[in-house]
Amino acid sequence: MSLYNKLKEFSVKENIIAGVGSAEPFYELKEYLKDREVPFVNFTPEERSEPGLIMKNAKSIVAIGLSYNVVYKKINDGRSRGNMSAGAVGTDYHIVVMDKLKKLKEELLPEREVKMFSDTGPLSDRDVALRCGLGTRGKNGSVINSEIGGMFFIGYMITDVEYELWQGEEGKAVYCGECDRCIRACPNSAISDGKCDYGRCISYITQKKGALSDEEYKAIGRQIYGCDVCQRVCPYNKNFKVSENEYAYPDIEKLLNTTNREFKEIYGNTAAGWRGKRTLQRNALAVLGNIGDEKGLDIALKYTKSEYEDLRSAAQYAVKCIKES
Ligand code: SF4
Ligand code: SF4
Repeated sequence: MSLYNKLKEFSVKENIIAGVGSAEPFYELKEYLKDREVPFVNFTPEERSEPGLIMKNAKSIVAIGLSYNVVYKKINDGRSRGNMSAGAVGTDYHIVVMDKLKKLKEELLPEREVKMFSDTGPLSDRDVALRCGLGTRGKNGSVINSEIGGMFFIGYMITDVEYELWQGEEGKAVYCGECDRCIRACPNSAISDGKCDYGRCISYITQKKGALSDEEYKAIGRQIYGCDVCQRVCPYNKNFKVSENEYAYPDIEKLLNTTNREFKEIYGNTAAGWRGKRTLQRNALAVLGNIGDEKGLDIALKYTKSEYEDLRSAAQYAVKCIKES
């Protein structure tokens, strides 16, 4: 059986998508990155675009994708609750993706040199996924796969296997065509021209540290972490699973009263945990303001005296909103 067919067999067995591309430099990406800052990324444009700088003997890249297209059932218990992005609920995807990559290496490439990355690698995940045929870029900036849509985590490994040894069937291309649902649905007008303006993207705003402007607190809406709106409206994501998890809709009061130890237990193994308790609590206070329920006033008032500027500022915003509503 060819290496490519083994990879396809592996992907079916492991319920993932997988594809392969060459390890040539990503020339266009390098040009694009020259004058741009990408949030939460500390690599140079060269490191981000040249697989050969990461592994000297780089010949090909294998990319995998794991769907997180889950809709969590709403909780109607009268408590003030926020929303988490589907990708931040449950076990941290960095761990799950890395486990799949390790298994892939063990079963298909036991003797070969590889370097594996799950989100925190130097190369651009989306560009790797596009080159490896996992999908086509949608107007919302995500990579859309013809079978599982655009809500999937990406992992990849750089290998010393000649790209020619992987040749196989091309995946089906996906097109946005005239559709513009994601552009129209984005709550903060962050998408235009197939690109996302990070400064306006709620997912980015919920993850950045420090005190935010009132405009940003307002933009957060009910999001404690991340944002899925441009994915949810995408017709390619209509085949979702339904599940239950109370942390998909965190109880604001509980989150604000969480001790460090409890936070570690609840959020430590999720993708949202890396941002730390304070950032999520700051967002929770902003959500409290956006809900505007008088019941939240005492909690918000308490945090206006916090020793931390970000919590104080979000609490002041919340108090103002609750008093005005
Ligand atoms: S994640 Fe949310 S805010 Fe960001 S582009 Fe998509 S819909 Fe807009
Ligand atoms: S919502 Fe429509 S325009 Fe946006 S990515 Fe999906 S198919 Fe493309």
